[in-house]
Amino acid sequence: MKIICIGRNYAEHAKELNNAIPTEPVFFMKPDTALLKDGEAFYYPDFTKDLHHEIEIVLKISKVGKHIKQEFAHKYYDEIGLGIDFTARDLQTKAKEKGLPWEKAKAFDGSAPIGKFVSKNLFTELSDISFELKINDESKQIGNTKDLLFSFDQIIAYVSQFVTLKVGDLIFTGTPEGVGPVNIGDKLQGYIKNELFLEFEVK
Ligand code: ZN
Repeated sequence: MKIICIGRNYAEHAKELNNAIPTEPVFFMKPDTALLKDGEAFYYPDFTKDLHHEIEIVLKISKVGKHIKQEFAHKYYDEIGLGIDFTARDLQTKAKEKGLPWEKAKAFDGSAPIGKFVSKNLFTELSDISFELKINDESKQIGNTKDLLFSFDQIIAYVSQFVTLKVGDLIFTGTPEGVGPVNIGDKLQGYIKNELFLEFEVK
């Protein structure tokens, strides 16, 4: 399986990092070795001094597809969950300055913790899902999918022009504003509509 991540998909987050608001989706990938599941602890890597959290709604692909039309995109994912797109912001900033790829900053082992997934049919409106990241019980990021620049269906249509989507692939749909550093000892908790979906510690 592969992990596809959408960058700059919330305008307020693009602005907080001084990035232009994109006119088409920006995407990058993480390998399967980036996954961290079942509440396993995340170990702070020694190659960064500025590891940032990015809480994101994650889609799970349920059907193989390429060149998917937007009107059929909803048939290609069946479950929704939460993940953290961990980012070594210091490495990413250097890479961006030089126009280099982001993999060192984004694709390292454990950089994609995910929590539980539920059927997307549990949500009456996919374009109105609120979610939140708390660190040590303090709210750090609050988002709602109504603020997405590119909807779930638009993302799937766009990405599948370039990359075949396979069953089990995950799509991280972008982070709202409020990204910031995590530290050793932090406890992260992710909520969708006030229900706990994701929980782990940084060691
Ligand atoms: Zn992200």
